[in-house]
Amino acid sequence: MKKITIDDLNLKGKRVLVRVDFNVPIENGKVADDTRIRESLPTIRKIIESGGKAILISHLGRPKGFDEKYSLKPIAEHLSKLLGISVKFTPDCIGEEVRKMVSELKEGEVLLLENVRFHPEEEKNDENFAKELASIADVYINDAFGSAHRAHASTEGVARFVKETAIGYLMKKEIEYLSKALTNPEKPYVAILGGAKVSDKIQVIKNLMDKVDAFLIGGGMANTFLKAKGYEVGKSLVENDKIELAKEILSEAEKRNIKFILPVDCVIASEFSNNANFEITSVDKVKPDWMILDIGPKTIETFKDVLKDAKTVVWNGPMGVFEFDNFAKGTFEIAKVLAEITSKGAVTIVGGGDSASAISKAGLSDKVSHVSTGGGASLEFLEGKELPGISAIKDK
Ligand code: AMP
Repeated sequence: MKKITIDDLNLKGKRVLVRVDFNVPIENGKVADDTRIRESLPTIRKIIESGGKAILISHLGRPKGFDEKYSLKPIAEHLSKLLGISVKFTPDCIGEEVRKMVSELKEGEVLLLENVRFHPEEEKNDENFAKELASIADVYINDAFGSAHRAHASTEGVARFVKETAIGYLMKKEIEYLSKALTNPEKPYVAILGGAKVSDKIQVIKNLMDKVDAFLIGGGMANTFLKAKGYEVGKSLVENDKIELAKEILSEAEKRNIKFILPVDCVIASEFSNNANFEITSVDKVKPDWMILDIGPKTIETFKDVLKDAKTVVWNGPMGVFEFDNFAKGTFEIAKVLAEITSKGAVTIVGGGDSASAISKAGLSDKVSHVSTGGGASLEFLEGKELPGISAIKDK
């Protein structure tokens, strides 16, 4: 069903409550990475230009009750600079003071509410709390893709009590790109999966099984598949309780004639540290006391070969422990290939979380088609699940 977007509503003079995802790193009282804030600017600007009154709501971190450390105040200051106007800030997200500040808000002004997670009712999706949030809004817009997989009061409950609801531009962009990975993707279609665990990616593999032409498997999760194939993986990260499942996935892929490509070589290390001794070896020669921390050069070449003709690519999870420079090569090389094929017309979609930080560390975020702002949310989207924050937006 086509979603109502911010463009479908008349915002003039209206109190527009926008759920944004301002869950950004704060260091020494300053915003350390403002990607998510910048991504929300088109929606905020649209409200300002349309003569609406923007009321922004977000969570930050996982506070237990009021905690200065998780205040959104530094974000209000940062946002003021980005927008070039003074963003007002409330000491709470509900209550008398908030209602007063909302009633004084003029057309084109922006108000940021304090961290919604200071109230435990938020995560409980408490109905009265959601109604309280709804009471300060004529229109509710959800633009927080990164929180769309959570049915919380500010992402789901509130939408039930506001007459007009819509998705914002960031949410629209995320849905459009991630949908391309699920509906009619141009072929060849390749999924690159990595990261720590197979268990986190099982549903994605199952959901993409009848869609992709090839899976490229790297990162810690590849170890469980290698062990399932009978290789010795030494002290590598392995999920022993998922070996049977890994075998089932391998045979399912074979039955369906889908390429399920595992590493043929790897970088092994004497310990889990950037200063560890390391060697390149084929996967059948991993030393019993060592661990696999990255894919090897032959694997990179094999992956590149599959990727060079791909027309659609989704990537979720790094190929190795990219946080350590000595084991980042596999991840960065994959990032480079994605940038290359994007310039030749392929649609390349990078799931949020660690893959997003990896591509940003490689300096290539703007060279791929789309980097999702949601880690968990993009994973659940690719699993084929309905995200509560998106389903809550309905034509009423
Ligand atoms: P995920 O959140 O599941 O995408 O996992 C990301 C994490 O997986 C990163 O912090 C990586 O350091 C880690 N990772 C990737 N490859 C390996 C590996 N071979 N061994 C241990 N951890 C890994």
